[in-house]
Amino acid sequence: MTIRQTVQKAEAMALAGEALPTETIIRLLEIDPNSEEAELLGAAARLVAAKVTGNKAGIWASIGVDYVPCPMNCRFCSFGEAWGTAEDAYTLTDDEVVNQAKSFIESGADWITLRTTEHYEFSNLIKLAQRIRAEIPGNYKLVANTGEMNELRTDELKKGGFNILYHAIRLKEGSDTPFSVAKRRKTLENIRGSELDLAFLVEPVGVEHTNREIADVFEMAMEADARIFGAMARIPVKGTPLYELGLLDERRLAQIVAVTRLAANFRAPDICVHPASKTALKWGANVVVVDIGAVPRAVGVSPTEWNGFDIPTARAWFKEAGFQQGC
Ligand code: SF4
Repeated sequence: MTIRQTVQKAEAMALAGEALPTETIIRLLEIDPNSEEAELLGAAARLVAAKVTGNKAGIWASIGVDYVPCPMNCRFCSFGEAWGTAEDAYTLTDDEVVNQAKSFIESGADWITLRTTEHYEFSNLIKLAQRIRAEIPGNYKLVANTGEMNELRTDELKKGGFNILYHAIRLKEGSDTPFSVAKRRKTLENIRGSELDLAFLVEPVGVEHTNREIADVFEMAMEADARIFGAMARIPVKGTPLYELGLLDERRLAQIVAVTRLAANFRAPDICVHPASKTALKWGANVVVVDIGAVPRAVGVSPTEWNGFDIPTARAWFKEAGFQQGC
């Protein structure tokens, strides 16, 4: 089968809501992102995005609550204590978090994510959610991105006002991170058995990751029943061990996003790309991230939107890509 035929078949399967075989996912990932075939793949993914989402897109606004040196020392993360990049620890006050959430919601964010490290007081995370729900009306979804979860904690998060938990088995989990895949899988199982939806991106993608590794992580997300899916590139932060490997090309990230769109199809209608990319929106993504505060992709707390990517810019990009906001 030619690549063109493989893309056409994958598009037809996606429109029929069928899962793509692993070998098809790998074949699509093998396409040269700068080729004509990649354009075909992107167009197929965009068409599937239109059918699955009704051309609706959304903004995932993320507040990094605590900026602290972290002893886990993941090799891509600016918080790693051993890299000496997160020396000026800072934790946003509850008022700062709630005010930022209010500002995002009033500007039109669809999701508000509270991102905390393993060390943040869990009871305070619940307190923050309760305050946000009590003080800020709206149809937004509240997302927690925090440490490993046991059953009790998923219940507490749900009762506190969260709808979604972000959790991922990262690329090269266990070698670029000290976490065991088995432990993170267990957390995914707990989320699956809870009332919270799962968000899980293929991340943090670098130039060194193979198509097989990407496909394996993708399949773990599907097995875990992720409802929000997509891909996030690793941002090279000076001082971290993987800095020298540089940044993934935008078209390669968009290609991975396009494959996730075809493979996830109706099972995970919202496909996120991070960092935001016009090519990825043209190739099937419908969710972009606006990041503020403690961002593991930056050194120091970001008092304004990371990389200058804010909600008005996201809206303009959606319009340009033919999406209306409102997931
Ligand atoms: S990714 Fe999370 S656990 Fe790993 S170093 Fe960064 S903050 Fe710590």
